[in-house]
Amino acid sequence: MKIGVLSVQGAVSEHLKMLRLCGIEALPVREQNSLSKVKGLIIPGGESTTIGKLIEEAGLARTIKERTRNGSLAVFGTCAGMVLMAGEVSDGLENQPRLELMNIKVKRNAFGRQRESFETNLEFNAFKKPLPGVFIRSPIIEEAGEEVDILASLPEGAVAARQGSMLTTAFHPELTDDLRVHQYFIAICKEL
Ligand code: GLN
Repeated sequence: MKIGVLSVQGAVSEHLKMLRLCGIEALPVREQNSLSKVKGLIIPGGESTTIGKLIEEAGLARTIKERTRNGSLAVFGTCAGMVLMAGEVSDGLENQPRLELMNIKVKRNAFGRQRESFETNLEFNAFKKPLPGVFIRSPIIEEAGEEVDILASLPEGAVAARQGSMLTTAFHPELTDDLRVHQYFIAICKEL
């Protein structure tokens, strides 16, 4: 089983490294051929407006949407990846191309200037012990549909969620040495 990391912009190498540490064959995905080889896809942090525009132009957005809908691709989005996966963005830029995969409404850059970047321990539903959360100009989930499971929250709002084979975190597990979130996503890919 191969898992890809969307590699048009953002924190790509860190995710590849985490997947490899989990014993997974990981490949960068920047065109249709590599996308067709993977069962799971990680959308990294970066700038959602840039990533959205580039995957739309490369025709990847359409394939990702189709394969997610027909159940042949699991997707895990971190930070900017969460913005791209959200069905609704409360303060998104007009015409920001997005994937709109999950029934969540998110707010971009939701933590304000004082808390723009920070680290904190999080209770994550699926794990017994707290998880280190690295937040860098992160979004939050303001609303979620019934089919969405909230996996972690901060006072400001929800910061991790799962809907079927789609997973998203507002924080960056790839910037820690804790492999549990990647292992959790790998388990989702194996279920497909
Ligand atoms: N604020 C960025 C965005 O909305 C995300 C930041 C990040 O991925 N670290 O695209």
